[in-house]
Amino acid sequence: MSKAHFGLIGLGVMGENLVLNAERNGFSSVVYNRTYSKTEEFLNGRGAGKQISGARDLKDFVNKLDRPRRILMMIKAGSAIDSVIESISPYLEVGDLLIDGGNSEFRDTERRVLELERKSFGFIGMGISGGSKGALEGPSMMPGGTKTSYEAIESLVCKMSAQVEDGPCVTYIGPGGSGHFVKTVHNGIEYAIEQILAEAYDLMKRICGMSGDEIADVFRRWNATEQLSSYLVEITESCLRTKDCGGKEDLVEKIMDKAGQKGTGLWTVLSALELGAPVPTIYAALNARVMSSMKEQRILAQQIISGPSIKSFDLGKTDNDMSFLMDAVVLACFASYAQGMELLRIGSNEYNYKLNMPSIAQIWKGGCIIRSQLLGRIQNAYSACPELQNLLVDPWFSLEVNRRLPGLASVVAGGVASGIPLPCLTSTLDYINSYRTGRLPQNLVQAMRDCFGSHTYQRVDKEGIFHTNWID
Ligand code: NAP
Repeated sequence: MSKAHFGLIGLGVMGENLVLNAERNGFSSVVYNRTYSKTEEFLNGRGAGKQISGARDLKDFVNKLDRPRRILMMIKAGSAIDSVIESISPYLEVGDLLIDGGNSEFRDTERRVLELERKSFGFIGMGISGGSKGALEGPSMMPGGTKTSYEAIESLVCKMSAQVEDGPCVTYIGPGGSGHFVKTVHNGIEYAIEQILAEAYDLMKRICGMSGDEIADVFRRWNATEQLSSYLVEITESCLRTKDCGGKEDLVEKIMDKAGQKGTGLWTVLSALELGAPVPTIYAALNARVMSSMKEQRILAQQIISGPSIKSFDLGKTDNDMSFLMDAVVLACFASYAQGMELLRIGSNEYNYKLNMPSIAQIWKGGCIIRSQLLGRIQNAYSACPELQNLLVDPWFSLEVNRRLPGLASVVAGGVASGIPLPCLTSTLDYINSYRTGRLPQNLVQAMRDCFGSHTYQRVDKEGIFHTNWID
């Protein structure tokens, strides 16, 4: 029997769809799942009648694969990856390649690349975005590892990934854990945009008293604009239109207001803190999820701490497109991408990943959760200026920022006056205001630090390091 081209470990939500994608693209496959009943169920169900066979154990799985073997692990991140690597390694041969497609921490991937390359196996850490539908139809893929290992999977991933007008949504990201670093930051941006859209919904509901369908209409119109056309805005409209109770009530209003946060949002913020990269909009989104999970405390506090009452203010409803609110949402989305790209640039320099910023924007244009029309502008901005320090000062983006900043400021002011929490919109306003302020009050902070701790300071009027006896 001829050997298969591709092996997949882990028939979960993503794995099932990815193996069907590979098979559809001409790569005969073998699947293995820790719980064998799932393998049987898949082979008798969605995998039936296809060039896909199953294996009950890892030895049989490896034996059924053509060399060099290309094996994608789509399993829970963390120790599960190390334990599968340990179990499968005795059966692998020089040149075989393991790919971790899960959401692994990029430093774990750094370690695994080194360990496996030492044994002469290839190891690729590949972020994959697109959810179950993307996995089946074409996700965005972010593979990192050695260039030689990438070349061994290039034909496979180029066919499996989403395709946009300027190519497949996959490229060689860089060495070591760079693929998982880029996927982590992608997820940080995703957290932020989801929270921004939730804040916009909250304002339309609480300030304007709009129904789910009316709010959905606004998202539909926004999705037709260059600035906001995106997968997340599109699905927000669908979520808001979905009904419960025989088509009468909005299902979204029945959902518990507690959002989970898995590793990647936290890792984005931790990396940013370590690298000294400002990501306040992304951090605000992570924190908003943490606050949301404290449901019982919030209910109690609501009865103890009274805030201002809701006061109506102009979200731009008069011109029928919520123009001020749109300004706010647009700038917060810009800030999320700007902060994410800046984190990538700083991380690339620190870890020597040599990330190609226009290529990263390009592979996010299709297949992934943060795909948007804006990514074309982001790609152009970094192509025109590869060393661009912040997206917001690119000519096209800065024009937009200048035009929309008053709208963002008025929405934040109105929300604050009504006591409505707007973590991402508020953080974005502070971020932009800080970034565009040539002189910040940190002169006083420096004075205090020197006063109590002799930390010294620099002066604006002369060179050197200074210390003053501030008291006496
Ligand atoms: P899932 O549906 O929860 O499936 C988890 C898979 O991991 C199952 O096949 C499970 O096998 C296997 N597994 C768990 N622990 C294992 C262990 N110790 N040894 C061997 N196998 C083990 O997961 P998923 O949603 O497909 O996600 C897989 C990976 O992709 C995760 O890292 C996830 O973060 C990432 N990811 C998910 C999405 C998404 O939208 N779902 C998108 C991008 C990336 P059993 O059947 O035996 O339990």
